[in-house]
Amino acid sequence: MRRSRVDDASADPEISKNTRMNPHRIVIVGGGAGGIELATRLGDKFGRRGRVQVTLVDAKLTHLWKPLLHEVAAGTFDSHENDVDYIAQAHQHHFEYRLGRMDGLDRARREISLAPTLDEAGREFVPRRVLPYDTLVLSVGSVSNDFGIPGVREHCVFIDDRDQADSFQCAVMRNYIHAQTHPGADDDRSVAGGDRGRRRHRRGTGRGNAQHGAPARGLRLRPD
Ligand SMILES: Cc1cc2nc3c(=O)[nH]c(=O)nc-3n(C[C@H](O)[C@H](O)[C@H](O)COP(=O)(O)OP(=O)(O)OC[C@H]3O[C@@H](n4cnc5c(N)ncnc54)[C@H](O)[C@@H]3O)c2cc1C
Repeated sequence: MRRSRVDDASADPEISKNTRMNPHRIVIVGGGAGGIELATRLGDKFGRRGRVQVTLVDAKLTHLWKPLLHEVAAGTFDSHENDVDYIAQAHQHHFEYRLGRMDGLDRARREISLAPTLDEAGREFVPRRVLPYDTLVLSVGSVSNDFGIPGVREHCVFIDDRDQADSFQCAVMRNYIHAQTHPGADDDRSVAGGDRGRRRHRRGTGRGNAQHGAPARGLRLRPD
């Protein structure tokens, strides 16, 4: 079987020394289902001895497995309960983590650029940075496609990340409390869900739909 340059390096002490001083730099952009798994495995296999420098870049500080987003949106799952902290994961699995959104690639120079990261108030707390690489892995995932259908972008709620799922859940709770505090209001609301071609549709009063997730928290609908 063909041995890799990294495997060969461990056999020859001189090459091994050079490799430790100038380790091969693998930069993985996107710590989603694919990226975090890859960074963890490469870190476990090569990172501990410094044979390869593995760096994971993500625009967020934590990873939440996307199939859980429906439950976050429904209010049956706390989005902070089961997320993976990139800083802790990197520490435990011998890779580096850099916070930032990649916004540029210079293939000739083998560099990516990361946009400045802003806090909630819009203040910059991580400046624009450039990251050199020897091997680059792009695993930035995808977001929902509206296929150009008129009205979808304006009227549908997209659940592609935790922020969107959290804000959907807040809207559901607002509706629930609105229905509770406005008895008798002629409040006809509906929720439609589209998922890979399948389509679910629930229709009813604001009450019925707003109960989604709320009873699990002990909130019962008893109009004031
Ligand atoms: C609501 C929902 C439910 C799903 N349910 C299922 C299911 O039941 N079963 C199933 O098999 N699949 C499901 N999927 C699909 C599955 O989650 C994806 O196929 C999978 O997450 C793709 O993995 P990925 O690593 O390619 O990207 P992602 O998991 O999307 O991760 C991409 C990562 O890249 C980061 N990123 C994006 N752009 C940049 C940038 N420019 N710079 C830095 N970081 C960036 C993001 O912050 C994110 O962490 C679901 C998806 C959604 C949205």
